[in-house]
Amino acid sequence: MSINVLFAAKAERWATYEPTLKQAFDEAGLDANLRTQMPPEEVDYIVYAPNSDLQDFRPYTSTKAVLGLWAGVEDVVGNKTLTQPFARMVDDGLTRGMVEWVTGHVLRHHLGMDTHILGQDGLWRDHVPPLATDRPVTILGLGALGQACAEALASLGFPVTGWSRSPKAVTDITCLSGQSGLAEAVSGAQIVVLLLPLTKDTENTLNAETLSLLAEGAVVINPGRGPLIDDEALLSALESGQVGHATLDVFRIEPLPKGHPYWAHPNVTVTPHIASETRPLSASRVIAENIRRGEAGEPFINLVDRSLGY
Ligand code: NAP
Repeated sequence: MSINVLFAAKAERWATYEPTLKQAFDEAGLDANLRTQMPPEEVDYIVYAPNSDLQDFRPYTSTKAVLGLWAGVEDVVGNKTLTQPFARMVDDGLTRGMVEWVTGHVLRHHLGMDTHILGQDGLWRDHVPPLATDRPVTILGLGALGQACAEALASLGFPVTGWSRSPKAVTDITCLSGQSGLAEAVSGAQIVVLLLPLTKDTENTLNAETLSLLAEGAVVINPGRGPLIDDEALLSALESGQVGHATLDVFRIEPLPKGHPYWAHPNVTVTPHIASETRPLSASRVIAENIRRGEAGEPFINLVDRSLGY
């Protein structure tokens, strides 16, 4: 019997995902009936984008799992109607994209590229950048994305410190954890990258106190979530020179309002939440693998722990 899979996302995503999901289901040997509409009580699995119209999961009484297309789940974990197992997206394509974005922005600041890209004015500026080995980098969040970025930066020679909720051991990374590890993780960092999920515990992780512990003139790079940073504290730290530059991809309000001080600040780079996104074919294969697991009675992968909020 066919497996009924409901695709619940913005209508424009259907044209992208229909062929890749079908390909992935075929590759996994799944006989799946993939639709954007079907009677709720007949749905076995929901492929889900949090900005879809589907917000009330109560009618989906036979649904075995809701399979998210997004890595960030802060808009979903509070939905009390969602009682089915809920998996978030961990996609190799999304991870690779984030590694490239983070590495690019770290190298921009490490090498001081702006000096030459923006300074084609006839002045011979012969300052040679330090080696990566002399540039401590801290990654806040050592999950799927943070760990991949930490390993990529360590492979270039940066001394990398990573911070997570639970203790970790990752080759070539100094791993710190828990609230007590945060001060040590940020102390003296010249570049700090935020790749935490947004939860009640992670809001304002970078605040006046933690910003004051960074090396003077440090660079803040945030592809995580806007509320991880106390914006007022960051603007003050930019004014005082405690932070030399902030490259921000995510904000409390998106799109970032036109009059927001970040847009005009000479030491802030705004990117429009493009650091990385789910790549349809690799993401479809992750969805297919979870459906295969569900049908085989195996545990789902990438399940969200609703009590932790991520
Ligand atoms: P993940 O695998 O769930 O990893 C989250 C990491 O944060 C884990 O290491 C976790 O610790 C740590 N963490 C959570 N709460 C913490 C706390 N209270 N204190 C210390 N560490 C804590 O998530 P991911 O896939 O790497 O994604 C991270 C975030 O990136 C997403 O939530 C999303 O907001 C953002 N994102 C942004 C874009 C973009 O384009 N800008 C794209 C994709 C994702 P444990 O390891 O101990 O669990």
